[in-house]
Amino acid sequence: MKVPSAESHASAKPRLATCSLTGCFGCHMSLLDIDERILELIDLVDLDVSPFDDKKSFDRPVDVGFVEGGCSNEYNVKELIEFRKHCRILVSVGACAINGGVPAMRNTVGLRECLEAVYLHGVSLEGGGMIPNDEDLPLLLDRVYPSHEVVKIDYFLPGCPPSGDAIWAALKALLTGTEPALSYQLLKYE
Ligand code: SF4
Repeated sequence: MKVPSAESHASAKPRLATCSLTGCFGCHMSLLDIDERILELIDLVDLDVSPFDDKKSFDRPVDVGFVEGGCSNEYNVKELIEFRKHCRILVSVGACAINGGVPAMRNTVGLRECLEAVYLHGVSLEGGGMIPNDEDLPLLLDRVYPSHEVVKIDYFLPGCPPSGDAIWAALKALLTGTEPALSYQLLKYE
């Protein structure tokens, strides 16, 4: 059974959205590792909000959303909630989205201690520094939160990053209405 498109138009392709929160963009790069299958992807979906096309806001619901990165600041939380609102299926992609990943290493120390270590006592600082406090900067959260602690997530695709093959297999299954069942080979860590 094919996944009905989020758009009511019967002939519309399914729509895909992606977002990058607190991560390194490696999971998005891994999506591009599907190489020539990107032509098949273009046939299969219409890209909606994504760093790939720089579309910033939703004007309609989408079928599948991929989230890279966890939430470390207020902007991340707002963006993730907006994504959840507009994505029929939401997938947490990669270690940062699933458990906070490397950015969540700061969870082992307090936020203030972390900021002081970087901005007041960093080895490259000469004559002292200051903790940035411009009102335009997003408010940092007390810790880095995995995406499922902020919104409901439908699927988790582990890896740092998941391989292009794993992303392709999951995406293709979701877009064709099949329950994703990835082999051990696609999910193993090395
Ligand atoms: Fe980068 Fe790994 Fe995080 Fe993906 S999971 S954003 S590759 S650090």
